Amino acid sequence: MKKLLIRRALAVDPALGPEKVRDLLAENGRITRISAGITPPRGCAVVDARGKWLFPGFIDAHAHAREPGGEKAEDFRSFGLAAAAGGVTTALAMPNTTPPCDDPSLLKKLRARALKKCAVNLLFAAALTKGRAGRALTSMEELAAAGAAAFTDDGGWLAGRRLLEEALRRAWDMDLPVLQHSEDFRLTGPGVINLGPVSRRLGLPGISRAAETSAVRADLASLRRAGAGRLSPQSVPGALRRAGAGRLSPQSVPGALRRAGGRLHLQHLSCAGSVELVRRARAAGLPVTAETCPHYIALTEADVVSGGTDMKMKPPLRAEADRRALIKGLADGTVDMIATDHAPHPAAEKAKGLLRAPFGVTGLETMAGVCLTHLVFAGHLDRLRLAELLSLNPARLLGLHLKGSLAPGMDADLTLIDPSAEYEVQPPFFSKSSNSPFKGRRLRGAAWMTVVGGDIVFRRRG
Ligand SMILES: [Zn+2]
Repeated sequence: MKKLLIRRALAVDPALGPEKVRDLLAENGRITRISAGITPPRGCAVVDARGKWLFPGFIDAHAHAREPGGEKAEDFRSFGLAAAAGGVTTALAMPNTTPPCDDPSLLKKLRARALKKCAVNLLFAAALTKGRAGRALTSMEELAAAGAAAFTDDGGWLAGRRLLEEALRRAWDMDLPVLQHSEDFRLTGPGVINLGPVSRRLGLPGISRAAETSAVRADLASLRRAGAGRLSPQSVPGALRRAGAGRLSPQSVPGALRRAGGRLHLQHLSCAGSVELVRRARAAGLPVTAETCPHYIALTEADVVSGGTDMKMKPPLRAEADRRALIKGLADGTVDMIATDHAPHPAAEKAKGLLRAPFGVTGLETMAGVCLTHLVFAGHLDRLRLAELLSLNPARLLGLHLKGSLAPGMDADLTLIDPSAEYEVQPPFFSKSSNSPFKGRRLRGAAWMTVVGGDIVFRRRG
């Protein structure tokens, strides 16, 4: 039997209550004990983790693994190494590959390949629409049966209202989330960076905040309509269901359930206006969740001047007030999680200048350091909230009931952090691509050891 004992780490998990120095025993891929002073059983590997912080494994709900079709930039193997080095034990791969993941047999093939090649758990989001073209929904039920963990047309926005509402209802019946890249492309036009002082100074076409907020507003309205007057069997608590769901009127169930007709997750929020829209929607009981990314909490449009195309992504880096609003949203519970939107590109593509280079930056290897430096050490939120943002909440979003906590019975997916590591981000990276916006920046805190299913998949040198 495979056994691993982590000794004397500071365990950070809201489910366990206050943080304490504890030992954790993993047997056969599951956590079996977590307490002080565990005696190692016979044949057990022992790790001395004094001074390290032990988190439930980080879960990245938004990443681009680039396989199939983009293997020059990344493949499942390099993706897994980069994830492990960043303390990410589970990632959700987006379907904007070549070909796109809109077909159950392709999805099955990719899952089998990832199982062999990828060092961390790789889940797959399937496309919402065929060919990601926005015209007809995919065979969502078949894709779910083939193992899709979510649905999205990420990279593009599903703008069709009727299609989105139908997708929300069908996904809801399978208890799967719909992820939206909320961007009104008519408003984006030829824009390449945020519309503001920097785009004007550099003479570049800008992307307004309205391109994001108007799409967020429309998506929230669709979520409201998808749930209007609708009762799904899953949305009714057991006792009520036993009373005979057929006899229930919409008025007899609590408001939040009555309104539920889908689980909408908004990807990569970048500006203050979007945070406010989500805050209000949540207050009104809508089942919406939201993510932001490390770059939006650490960088602004001003960084584009020196960083060039490594600072070009969608949505674009905004202003200081937006950065602050996102951090406030993370701290007060409005924004549920941080996802990397890891988007590797070959150097030759990123060398084409701000107008022509593709959008996207890498993020797996720097997420932990950026979050620790700019959120925890900066005093904006504590470690327990970070555990929610990087592990518990993405686990809930993706329905991973055995992940997101260090409690006995859970999968032994662990991220150990060295809080004393201080370093400058520099290539080489484990990722095949090096389009990181954090190159040359100093960070504090890094993944020290990463464990997936009880196996050590990464150990930091030095
Ligand atoms: Zn996107």
